[in-house]
Amino acid sequence: MTEDVKLWASSGDSHFLEPEDLWRSRLPKRLSELVPRSVKHPDGKWETVHVDGQAFRRRLPGIAQEEFYAASYRAPGAGDVELRIKDLDEEGIWAELVYPSLGMWSASFRTPEVLREALRVSNDWAKETILDYSPRLIPTGQVSTMSIEDACAELKRCGELGFKAVFMPVTPHPLQKDYNRDEWEPFWALAEDIGMVLAFHIGTEPVDFNTGGAVGIAYRGPGGAVLNHTETTFGGQRAVMKLVACGALDRHPNLKVLVSEGGATWVPFIADRMEEAYRQHSMAVRPKLARTPKEIIYSQVYASFQHDGSAVAACTSMGYNNVMWGSDYPHMEGTYGHTQMTLHNLFDGVDQKTRDRIMFGSFNELFPGTPALPSAGGALDE
Ligand code: MN
Repeated sequence: MTEDVKLWASSGDSHFLEPEDLWRSRLPKRLSELVPRSVKHPDGKWETVHVDGQAFRRRLPGIAQEEFYAASYRAPGAGDVELRIKDLDEEGIWAELVYPSLGMWSASFRTPEVLREALRVSNDWAKETILDYSPRLIPTGQVSTMSIEDACAELKRCGELGFKAVFMPVTPHPLQKDYNRDEWEPFWALAEDIGMVLAFHIGTEPVDFNTGGAVGIAYRGPGGAVLNHTETTFGGQRAVMKLVACGALDRHPNLKVLVSEGGATWVPFIADRMEEAYRQHSMAVRPKLARTPKEIIYSQVYASFQHDGSAVAACTSMGYNNVMWGSDYPHMEGTYGHTQMTLHNLFDGVDQKTRDRIMFGSFNELFPGTPALPSAGGALDE
C-alpha cells in the first residue's frame, strides 16, 4: 500500500444545503408566512425567530459559532450538485447518502399542515435537484414526525418518487409519542413494505428555542466544545434501543436502520447491554422478542463513522459486520480536504474483504442499485 494510490469509498453520511428561501418561495402564501424566518436586532446581539405563529428571541451566535458555520459549508459543492460531484471525485467519494439541512427546524413547527407541506416541498426539490441528477447521490426523503398519519402518507409518496431512505430525527417531534410506542407501528410496517431505510442522523434532537437553545449546545464552560460534540452521538444509540426493545425491528425483520455519524463500536456495546437486560430482567421484559436484541441489532442496524480509529475493529474483532464509512461532507466534523489521508489511515494494512465491506459493501446492501465504481478510474487497483 502506497500513499499515492487513490482510495475510493461510498459515504453513509453527507449533507446538502438547500436554498435558504426554498419553503418561502414554493409554499402558498398562507403557509409560507409561517415557516421559520429570522429578524436580527439592530444591536447585532439578538434575533427574533418567527415560526408557525410563534416568536422567540435568542442570542445570536458569537464569532466562534459563525466561524463554525462558515467552516461547515466551505466545500464548493455544499449546495450545488455539479460542483459537488467534482468535490466527490477529488476526495475519492463514490456514492453518498445525502441528508437535508432545513429539516433541523422541524421540531419548532406547531401546525401539522405547515410542517407536512414544507417537507413535501423539500422532497419535491430534493428529487428534482439531487435524486434525478446522479445515481451516485442518494438523498433522504423527509416526513413530519409531528403526525404519524402525515408521515405515512409522505413516506409512501417518497417511495413512489424513488427515495430509498428517509431521514429520521433521533427523537420525534416534541408533540408526538416516542418511537417505542405502538402508535408508530403503521410507519414501521410501511417502511419495511416499501423497502425504505430509516436513516437516523445523530445530533437531531429538537432544539428548545424558548430557552435560548442553540443547535448542539448542551454544555458551557471548560471542555464545552468536546463535551458538546461527544454528546451528539448518544441520541442515535437511544433511537436504536427503542426500536429494538419495543419489538419494531423484530416484527419487521426486513426493516433496515442506519445511524449516521455516530461511530461504530457503540453497536456491539449496546447489543451486549440489551442482551443482559433482556436475559437478566426477563421477568419484567415486555414484549418478548422472537430473536435476541443482539441478533436483531447485528442484522438490521448499520452504523457510519468518519474518523474513528476503533470502527474497523468493530467489524474485524467484534463480529459486527454492518459498519459503513461516511465522509460527513461538507461538515466540519467530516473529512473534506483530508479524505485520502483518512482513508489511508483507516484502511492501509486492512484485509481486502473488510475494506470492501466498510467502504462499499454495507452501503450497497442498504441502497441496492447504486452504480458500481468504474474500474477504469484506477480506483482500488493497488
Ligand atoms: Mn453528518
